[in-house]
Amino acid sequence: MSRLDSFIRRMTAQRDILDHVCAEVAKMEGPVIELGLGNGRTFHHLRERLPGRRIVAFDRALAAHASSIPEAENLVLGEIRETAERFIGIDAALVHADIGTGYEDRDAVTSAWLPDLIARLLRVGGIAVSGTPLDHPQLQRLAPPPSVPADRYFISRRV
Ligand code: SAM
Repeated sequence: MSRLDSFIRRMTAQRDILDHVCAEVAKMEGPVIELGLGNGRTFHHLRERLPGRRIVAFDRALAAHASSIPEAENLVLGEIRETAERFIGIDAALVHADIGTGYEDRDAVTSAWLPDLIARLLRVGGIAVSGTPLDHPQLQRLAPPPSVPADRYFISRRV
């Protein structure tokens, strides 16, 4: 499969999974945490799907399109592993983590700290959506919607 085909499939899976979980997140209290603002496309999508919800977005540096930049108080710049520490206990309804690189060795390093961070950001019953699997005793893997093949994009619930 070409990298373009793979990218399109990943974006479709990302959009379908975010739409799938937003219906449930809309009924739950708590902010949304966007780990990896990037260009801001998924931030923009979440803002449309969850109007009025606080979304706190994290990245190393601001590189988002002008239409997709959070308010200053909801934009956190720096290394997520360090900057997100002060948000532990925020009881997020949704954490979306799109910080995979496609390089196995780098993603393995992230997988050593990301699942525990996400478990501590979420409220009980809250949902994590991620580009990499989250292996953690408090994060229960959920089945994706039927349009998303297994192992392309991941949903977990904080138990
Ligand atoms: N979901 C975004 C969108 O729709 O535009 C794209 C996110 S992009 C794939 C990943 C982003 O995560 C990059 O902007 C990168 O700088 C950021 N990132 C990755 N690892 C990070 C880390 N450990 N700390 C801070 N930012 C990180």
